[in-house]
Amino acid sequence: MLEIPESQTISLQAGRILTGKRIVEVFNATNPHKFAWFSGDPSEYGKLLAGRQVKSTKGHGMFVDICCDENISFSIGEGTNMRYYLSSEQHPDKYQLLIVFDDDSFVTCNVAMYGGIWVYKGIFDDRYHQLSLDSISPLDDNFDETIFDSIFKNSPKDISAKALLATEQRIPGVGNGVLQDILFNAGIHPKRKKSTLTDSKKAELFNSLKSTLKSMTEMGGRDTEKDFFGKDGGYKTLLSKNTVKRPCANCGDLIAKEAYLGGAIYFCPTCQKL
Ligand SMILES: [Zn+2]
Repeated sequence: MLEIPESQTISLQAGRILTGKRIVEVFNATNPHKFAWFSGDPSEYGKLLAGRQVKSTKGHGMFVDICCDENISFSIGEGTNMRYYLSSEQHPDKYQLLIVFDDDSFVTCNVAMYGGIWVYKGIFDDRYHQLSLDSISPLDDNFDETIFDSIFKNSPKDISAKALLATEQRIPGVGNGVLQDILFNAGIHPKRKKSTLTDSKKAELFNSLKSTLKSMTEMGGRDTEKDFFGKDGGYKTLLSKNTVKRPCANCGDLIAKEAYLGGAIYFCPTCQKL
């Protein structure tokens, strides 16, 4: 899933590679997917994109936007993988969209469990996309304790730490993936109630939110996700499907996994007491 470290990494990589290239051809899905979301009719995407030149890219929240001339953009979000291939490589068999550039290099978009691929002129009329664009990222210096305090105060009283960070889009681009290491680094159990957090624990959570996301982003995304070139990210997740039942880096206790609020949580039973 695209979360802040991946949307930043992919946007940066795509910006370096695609800026200046012109789109020559678009191929629609070879592998239709029930939970692939499109804006309008994807069979019209070829008409919208052909001839357009990539001007810039933007990663924000769980989205990557590729902005072209003539005010045309395409965006991916949530569980959509966007991958770049050289002209010497063969088109893969399965994709939901394939975009060819003027040097015959190409990009594929593939939806894993669910995700969006949207091509549009002007502004993308989507509440979550707009909310994400309008929000201050925790990577930004302007995301300070005052902003975190207001997110904290404006959430329901008995909410858990996981629900606080990763539901209702309170912090766009912080989801069930990145929250595991954020909570581990703050020593907070995902099910711990917000009301039990002392001021110093709250400060630890704020610091961990910023520093964990920064380090994930600087390392090119998490090792559980793919980058623009189809490679695993360089950030080694402390808590993820890769480390379950392995020893905790702090204390040696075994990393536990449970289902909670529509997704797995991972935690160290010793470092993150309830
Ligand atoms: Zn531990």
